[in-house]
Amino acid sequence: MAGSGDSGSKGPSSTRQKKKLVDEGVRALRNKPGWDPASFSSTSPEEKLLILDQQSAGEKAYAEADVCAQCLALRQEKGDETLLCAPHLAEAMGF
Ligand SMILES: [Zn+2]
Repeated sequence: MAGSGDSGSKGPSSTRQKKKLVDEGVRALRNKPGWDPASFSSTSPEEKLLILDQQSAGEKAYAEADVCAQCLALRQEKGDETLLCAPHLAEAMGF
């Protein structure tokens, strides 16, 4: 066994570097207007747009689901008319 007890020292430093990158990204986002968490309680035009966008994505997913074999099979199997297959569920949730 060669002494490899020090091999773990590389991992944490790269993880720290990654975290630094993420921190910088978060800071850049916070600096953008409309991204201030304090303004989330009031309905800004950006927020309304975001909600609208998510709603239409959900409606689109449900409209597609009505002709999606996977969704229809799942609904028939579970007896629940509101079920969506995994891809359409993700789409409805705005992913
Ligand atoms: Zn589907």
